[in-house]
Amino acid sequence: MIVKYNITIGMLCIALSLFMSNAKAQEEAKPVILNSGVWLKGDLHVHSRHSTESSNNSIAKIINFSKSVKMDYVCITDHDNHVNGDVEHHTWADPEFKSDSLLLLYGAEWTTTRGHGNVFSDKPYKHQRLFDVRDERDVNIGKVKNSLGIHLSANHPSGKDNFGFSYDLVQSIEVWNSSVWPKNANAIMIWDDMLSSGRMMTGRGGSDAHHGLPTGSEKPSANTYQAEYNYVGTPTTWVFAKEKSLTAIVDALTHGKVSVSSNPFAPRVEFYADANDDGKFEMMMGDNSISKGKPVKFLVQLSGNTLPDADYTITIIKNGKKLNTYHAKGKVPMVQFEDAPEIKGRTYYRVTVEGTNTAYPQVPKSMALSENMVGLSNPIYFNFDPKF
Ligand SMILES: [Zn+2]
Ligand SMILES: [Zn+2]
Repeated sequence: MIVKYNITIGMLCIALSLFMSNAKAQEEAKPVILNSGVWLKGDLHVHSRHSTESSNNSIAKIINFSKSVKMDYVCITDHDNHVNGDVEHHTWADPEFKSDSLLLLYGAEWTTTRGHGNVFSDKPYKHQRLFDVRDERDVNIGKVKNSLGIHLSANHPSGKDNFGFSYDLVQSIEVWNSSVWPKNANAIMIWDDMLSSGRMMTGRGGSDAHHGLPTGSEKPSANTYQAEYNYVGTPTTWVFAKEKSLTAIVDALTHGKVSVSSNPFAPRVEFYADANDDGKFEMMMGDNSISKGKPVKFLVQLSGNTLPDADYTITIIKNGKKLNTYHAKGKVPMVQFEDAPEIKGRTYYRVTVEGTNTAYPQVPKSMALSENMVGLSNPIYFNFDPKF
């Protein structure tokens, strides 16, 4: 989609036309972004009643809540070990596993002695096969994973249940698990190490919510309080998909067309580059280009519910280190900067955004746990080997 700004100048009165031409001048200053697709938001890590330690969290409840906060997709990722790998006849066979508007990915949390990972698939697959090889050598697991044609993602990779497998098994990594932002520092460090070593690996979010609020005759559990702190959408993963379909969502996840926001109402981070110096931003997150050693123009933009008076701090990370920090405010806060990627070696740039968090009244205590973290982008790459 080429963004065009065709504003008709009003002819009714001078005041109106003055106002309109002023608006036009402002609009024309906006950068031209070349891309074609649709932004979709969702949660990639949610447990339903098919995970034995969850409470008051039926699939219908998850779906209804997701719809009420305008999610486009969700992946219910129950622990596979709780059903001995037979996700197919539990989560996916649940009569509630259906929706006319919310896209439901097929997946599960691969719950193993060496760590946890989520599978994301656009169609049912033989999850049992992945469960059955969980303790085998990684090279054998990789063969099974590839034959299933699934996207595998490392979950909460550091701390307890760290991801003790080769990261060459995964296409993405959970860099933002739950509303508790500060505990993700090691996940971010691992992500930067993977990127710095030449892996184009997508960073994504997941609430890992297990507990819903009791409704009807349901009784509260000892963990019911968690639903106010962490639930569907804390954080929210945005994907830029070619179309609104399960296949396009998984494709966008695999290719890094992804940013993460603290909740469904927080602004979305968009990150673009103009690598061929034609004045148009033709690259976006996940894209990889050959560096000519010349300065490249970059654009960071916050879309959606930005807070009118908020001063957002935008930090640019280049090859794992802070390159610069900017401040932006307004309806569509925006920052442009230039930098020259290495002519020989690899370079990646990614963005984090901090500031006052947008309210999420449905999960009212989540904002305090997210602290100042508003969102993060995936990288734009230069000189990475696409066949790595
Ligand atoms: Zn887990
Ligand atoms: Zn989990």
